[in-house]
Amino acid sequence: MITSDWHTHTTASPDGTLTVGTLCEEARRQGLRVIGMSDHCNFNDAKYRQVMRDSRAAYERHCTQYPELRFGVELSPYSRTVYDALARGDTLGSCRAGYIAAGEPPYTPAFALTREDVDALGLSYVIAGVHWRCDAPDASVPPRSADAWIKEWLRLMTWSAEALAEIAGDRLKILAHPWYSCIRAPWVQSPGEDNRGFARIPFSAHDELAAVLLQYGVAAECNADQVTHPTLSERYRREYAEFLVYLNERGVPITYGTDEHERYPDRRKSVLAALRQSGYRENTLYGG
Ligand SMILES: [Zn+2]
Ligand SMILES: [Zn+2]
Repeated sequence: MITSDWHTHTTASPDGTLTVGTLCEEARRQGLRVIGMSDHCNFNDAKYRQVMRDSRAAYERHCTQYPELRFGVELSPYSRTVYDALARGDTLGSCRAGYIAAGEPPYTPAFALTREDVDALGLSYVIAGVHWRCDAPDASVPPRSADAWIKEWLRLMTWSAEALAEIAGDRLKILAHPWYSCIRAPWVQSPGEDNRGFARIPFSAHDELAAVLLQYGVAAECNADQVTHPTLSERYRREYAEFLVYLNERGVPITYGTDEHERYPDRRKSVLAALRQSGYRENTLYGG
């Protein structure tokens, strides 16, 4: 059984409507031993500093009654130039965040929080989710090709693993929803002549990712959506679960994350069923 969930969003996140009280009650009813709150901290501006203050305050209001609650954060790599501009007092609207036009050189990534911030906030774990082009204000232009997309996504994931080690130290470190945005990529949803879909991502990329995660002591997340969401093809969900099992067989710890933002249904049975179908060995999920 799965007894921990390290990835949820509460009302402190700009995109969350799940109260911490509801989250804790539901998690307890489901028998979870650990329930992590990991609100988004995308940018180092006033809005996201407030998100972290609200998130911390909500954690403090509930942690005595619910000792299973853990205080974390979800960071995303965006352009260092953007963070520097925000630190100088620019507004986000004036920045080009997390987006590269086709042909433009890759940006130098950064996170919104530093090691000092992580310590000051008293975070007990940190997760990093690449949302490249997903949350960016001018995310309308698609990447040029599947190969370019794969290369850039891998670069941001491996950068995130190294940066997590730097800012989170010995805390639990998780790479959220690896390869996340390919669920929207046309080459996954409508595989072309090669008919490969998610399998378009070569195993050499999975090997490289596994090596970096192991090097920096970062776990990979089994995101409930990626293996069970009904809008994804059965084939995608199976290939994605096989990818997670592949990482796990290479020694990478796999954590469970629902990434819930609104309600807290129990999805563990269908997640486990998907993993088992793809060769998952019982009781190898991190934290139960
Ligand atoms: Zn995310
Ligand atoms: Zn999330």
